[in-house]
Amino acid sequence: MARYTGPVCRLCRRVGEKLFLKGERCLTPKCAIERRSNPPGEHGANRRRRVSEHGLQLREKNRARAVYGVLERQFRNYFDEASRKSGVTGVYLLQLLERRLDNAVFRLGFAESRAQARQTVRHRHITINGRRMDVPSYRVKVGDVIGWRERSKENELYKVLVADIHRKPLPSWLSLDADAVTGRVEALPDPDEMDLKIEHRMIVEFYAR
Ligand code: SF4
Repeated sequence: MARYTGPVCRLCRRVGEKLFLKGERCLTPKCAIERRSNPPGEHGANRRRRVSEHGLQLREKNRARAVYGVLERQFRNYFDEASRKSGVTGVYLLQLLERRLDNAVFRLGFAESRAQARQTVRHRHITINGRRMDVPSYRVKVGDVIGWRERSKENELYKVLVADIHRKPLPSWLSLDADAVTGRVEALPDPDEMDLKIEHRMIVEFYAR
């Protein structure tokens, strides 16, 4: 599946806030938002428009896309699937996004950012229930065990990760066995436990127009 390959910090500057897309760098003064928070582009620094309701909804949708690293068409597919379900469409949409394997790998602390998690999955370091899985959009299910391939445990990334594994707060829908460096999906994700608050109602309103 295709992915966004443009400048990452630009996505943060476009929505005007830190989206923490680059891991450790986001916490340092090198962060582009710390250095210049104005929108990108030639007139970004002078832009002072009042944003319409539709603009705010669009911004929230783009914010969610940037956080999960999902392109427009794929995001729309998630939305269409969510809207076919009974219940609150926005909540279901956020659950679908949180259940992506690259997100679960990131939330378990197996990678510094979702982009790195995606690459880790793509490079075949990750297993699901003991079997190799290299599809970042794989949808994790309750009971799935997410682990590392034996051969990948020689990898530098893995060694750094093991030393640091307790550092990140874990959402309650995942559990971590730090000794075995495996995670388990205990429940469906709770949208209130997302690391960045996303106003799903605005996304639903955006597509309802
Ligand atoms: Fe966003 Fe991180 Fe870049 Fe800062 S360093 S602008 S938080 S991606």
